[in-house]
Amino acid sequence: MRGKRSATPLWMSFRKKRQTEGCRTSKAPSPLRSAGAPQIFMKLENRLALITGGGRGIGRAIAFAFAREGASIAVAARTRAQVESVAYEVACEFGVETLAVECDVADAESVGRAFAHTSEQFGGGPDILVNNAGIAETYPFVKTDEAMWQRHLEVNLTGTFRCTRLALPGMLEHGWGRVINIASIAGKTGAPYISAYSASKHGVLGLTRSLALEVGATGITVNAICPGYVDTEMTSRGIENIVAKTGKSADDALAVLKRASPQNRLVTGEEVAALALLLASEDGRGINGQAINVDGGTVLF
Ligand code: NAD
Repeated sequence: MRGKRSATPLWMSFRKKRQTEGCRTSKAPSPLRSAGAPQIFMKLENRLALITGGGRGIGRAIAFAFAREGASIAVAARTRAQVESVAYEVACEFGVETLAVECDVADAESVGRAFAHTSEQFGGGPDILVNNAGIAETYPFVKTDEAMWQRHLEVNLTGTFRCTRLALPGMLEHGWGRVINIASIAGKTGAPYISAYSASKHGVLGLTRSLALEVGATGITVNAICPGYVDTEMTSRGIENIVAKTGKSADDALAVLKRASPQNRLVTGEEVAALALLLASEDGRGINGQAINVDGGTVLF
């Protein structure tokens, strides 16, 4: 049974709220309202999903997509205001139970506390883990110092390892689980100025493939999603960086990123979330050990 707990400074739960109970309307548009009104099939009913870095961008879109399908949601990231806002909005819009929990995936103790709070709140660990928290900094290789290199490995790769290690025992016990790693097409191919980021995401694919084979017979699947440029803050910061380094206008910098895709556009968080939903659901049970691109055809392997 899922237990009740009083709030502590590090986490806050929202139990089955509805707009009729006086939920505030968020300033940020709901990813689902802006994407139209998809049909609801409750594909994730009775599932608990923990989404790292779920306070904005791709993680936020995944939280909405999973909650729409009936999942309880634990949103875990560093910025308390953002995770609380997403957990509150999702609870209001879909009436599912949510938890906002502060979590720095680069800190083993913080990850341990976040999983412990989740377990206390819901009476067990997540059925679905989305390792989405990530950072991306761009520097020429000779300016990529030890600290920057370690930061990327800690957050993008070791953070994924840490969370998966804590989520897996419960999944093995239940004989069902989904691990979904948000990697990148930079985990399949290289590009100038992102050696640390690219190396960390290549590592995520190695982890994904090996673990998928290890747990293949247990009812658990492990997959990676490899987006191209997505319309999120991460890409906005990339644009600012191009502007600062090259003197291009922001529009020109955006056009450069769009042209990386044969579709000449950025991917949306909701498109990434749609694939995450397939992988998380029963429909996706045959997909295991894969690294699937959502990039408009930028990378063809
Ligand atoms: P974003 O910067 O908007 O969101 C990243 C999220 O991760 C934020 O919520 C942030 O707080 C969180 N985060 C960062 N460091 C963390 C830490 N140490 N502990 C916990 N949370 C942390 O970017 P996004 O585009 O939504 O990125 C989500 C994922 O998608 C990342 O792993 C990123 O590498 C990947 N990705 C993004 C793009 C893109 O173009 N935006 C492309 C390919 C892959």
